[in-house]
Amino acid sequence: MTRVGVLALQGDVREHEAALARLSAESVKVRRLAELESVDAIIIPGGESTTIDKLLRAFDLFDPLQRRIEEGLPVLGTCAGMIMLATDIIGGIEGQRTLGAIDMTVRRNAFGRQVDSSEVELTWIPDGSTMHATFIRAPWVEKWSDAVEVLAIDQAHGGAVVAVRQGNAIATSFHSEISDDDRVHALLVDLARWV
Ligand code: GLN
Repeated sequence: MTRVGVLALQGDVREHEAALARLSAESVKVRRLAELESVDAIIIPGGESTTIDKLLRAFDLFDPLQRRIEEGLPVLGTCAGMIMLATDIIGGIEGQRTLGAIDMTVRRNAFGRQVDSSEVELTWIPDGSTMHATFIRAPWVEKWSDAVEVLAIDQAHGGAVVAVRQGNAIATSFHSEISDDDRVHALLVDLARWV
């Protein structure tokens, strides 16, 4: 069975575990190195990117996680997790670090701080279908390189780019774990089965 880690330092871990269970994948909470080394893929949940960054460093997981992703470990980052995967941030705090797995610049709290959360129908680019999505103080992708594939755009917000993939790394602005639509998680599980 495919073992998917959920980084469990901060954020909405339980919702990701539930999504993985729906896909018949085993989920493992990752808080230490041995757990990180045991997984076939990993999810960085939504939460607060500045806190996740600090805790990754405090738990001595930042460098090992970055190395495993560089070596090809499939990874999905949602919301704060998307920020963690970017190479650059607009609106980050002093000294905030990211893992740099996706060649993109993300803007934190891009939809405005006053709009705490919203639900929209996105366009899922691979097949042109719609995808129901929930945003909570979400980032969007402001710049990206040719190496990055755009997976979803939000027509309601001027065509903002809200899901991307570069090789083994997938990132979404929205919380794919709190909808009934498991396509994003299925993509991660598929990557884990093929590598
Ligand atoms: N605004 C948060 C951050 O910058 C992300 C919010 C979320 O993950 N729901 O990390």
